[in-house]
Amino acid sequence: MSRAARLSLPLLAVLAACAQGSPESSPSDRPPNFVIVFADDLGWGDLGSYGAPVIRTPHLDRMAAEGQRWTNFYVTASVCSPSRAGLLTGRLPVRNGLYGDRTRVLFPDFVGGIQDEEITLAEALRDLGYATGMFGKWHLGDGPRYLPTRHGFDYWFGIPYSNDMMSTLPREERRAAFLDPKIEYWDVPLIRSERDEAGEIVAETLEQPADQTTITKRYAEEAVDFIRAHRDEPFFVYLPHSMPHVPLFRASEFEGHSEAGLYGDVIEEIDWSVGRILDTLEEEDIAGNTLVFFSSDNGPWTAFRTQGGLAGPLREGKGMTWEGGMRVPGLFWWPGAVAPEVVTNEIGSTSDLFATFLGLAGGTVPDDRPMDSLDLAPVLRGEGEGPREEVPFYRGSELYAYRVGNYKAHFITEGEYGLAGERTEHDPPLLYDLALDPGEQWDVATDRPEVLADVTSRALQHRAGVAVARSEFDRRTGDR
Ligand code: MG
Repeated sequence: MSRAARLSLPLLAVLAACAQGSPESSPSDRPPNFVIVFADDLGWGDLGSYGAPVIRTPHLDRMAAEGQRWTNFYVTASVCSPSRAGLLTGRLPVRNGLYGDRTRVLFPDFVGGIQDEEITLAEALRDLGYATGMFGKWHLGDGPRYLPTRHGFDYWFGIPYSNDMMSTLPREERRAAFLDPKIEYWDVPLIRSERDEAGEIVAETLEQPADQTTITKRYAEEAVDFIRAHRDEPFFVYLPHSMPHVPLFRASEFEGHSEAGLYGDVIEEIDWSVGRILDTLEEEDIAGNTLVFFSSDNGPWTAFRTQGGLAGPLREGKGMTWEGGMRVPGLFWWPGAVAPEVVTNEIGSTSDLFATFLGLAGGTVPDDRPMDSLDLAPVLRGEGEGPREEVPFYRGSELYAYRVGNYKAHFITEGEYGLAGERTEHDPPLLYDLALDPGEQWDVATDRPEVLADVTSRALQHRAGVAVARSEFDRRTGDR
C-alpha cells in the first residue's frame, strides 16, 4: 500500500487544502495543541481577574475574559515536586512515589525521581503524534535517567530543580541573600536537552549559574520558537516558569514595572510571557486549535512575606493544606471552543489535565493503574457539569484534609513551608463550608455533625483505596 493510501481522510482533506493554499488550510482537522503555563509559588490572588489590587496582568486577564476562569482549581500538593508530579502523571503523589515525609521536595543529587513506569502527559501525547517541548523548571529528579527528555519531552530548555538550590553562600547568610539577590548566589545550571542525530538523548549545560534575570524571557522566546517550528503538527508545550519562586529576578525592562515592588515586577513579566504565547498562536493562525491553560504549582510562600504573593481571600499559603496552599488560579483559553467570559465554581485539579487533554486529543487514559484524573471537557465546552466532587489534601504520605462538595474537613493542620510549624491533630476534625467561608474562618463541625460524618467517611473510603508507593524523596540509596 502506498504511503498516501494509508493516510486518514481528515488528514488528506487538510493536505488538499494546504496544496490549494486556500483559507481553509486551517489545522482544524488535527487534534488540538496544548500549552500549559505553570507559575511557581504564585498565589490565587495574584492575578487581576482573581482580584489582585495592584499587580497588572492584562494578558492573563484576557485569557479569563476570552475563556474560562475557575474559582475552585487545585493542585495535588502544596509544594513544588509533588505538585508537578500530579500534573504530569494524572496521579496523586502518594501513588507515583513523588512525595516525601522526611524531605518534601527533591534536592540536587538525590537518588530519587520520576520512575520509568509512570506515564507522563508528554509521553501519552507523543504516542499520539504530538511534538512535545518543555521550557522551564523540572523538579522531578536531576539524575540522568530522570531528565524530561527521558519522560516524554522531545526538547527541554530549563533548570532541573528550584532556583534557590545550590547556594554558594554560608548557611547563616542565605536568608538575607533573598533580600538582595545576585545571580552568583545560586549555582543552578541552565540545560538544553534533546535527541542528537544518532538518536541519543544529549544534555548540555548552557550556563551555570543560570542568568535568572533573563530566564523568564528566554523560556518564553524558546517556547515561541518551538510553536513556530511545529505549527503544522499537533504540539504540547509545557512552560513551567521558575518564577515567582524566591529568589526573585526579572529582566531590566521590568524593573520598576509594577507598583507592587519586585514581586509585582516578576508577575508582570510572567504576564508578558503569556502575551507572547497568545500573540504567537494568533500570528501563526493556530489559536483556534490550541488550548492554553495557566496555573501555579502551589500557593504563595508566605514565609517570605512581601516577596511572596497573595492567596486573596484564602487562608495561608505554600506548604499547607489550608486553601491558600493548594487552591490556585485556573484559566482555560481556546477561542471558538471554550466560550468567553465564563467563571465556573466547578472543582478541578491539575491532575485532571491528563484525562482532559488525552480525551480532546483522541487518546485514552491508561487503565492498568489507578488514576486521579477526571475529564473536565464537558465544563470547558459548556455542555455539562464538572465530574469532580472530592479533593484530597495530602502532606507527604498523610491525608491532612478532604473536600466533598462545598465542605472541607481538616484532620491534621501544620505550619507554613520553611518555618517550623506546629502539627495539630483535630478530634473532632475542623469543618468549613467553602461556599460561605472560603477563608476557613468559621468551624461548623458542631453545627453540621451529619456533614462531618459524611466527609470523614468519604475520606476514609478514599484513603482505603490508595496504595502508598515508596517515597522517592526519602530514598537515600539506589541508582540515579
Ligand atoms: Mg512551587
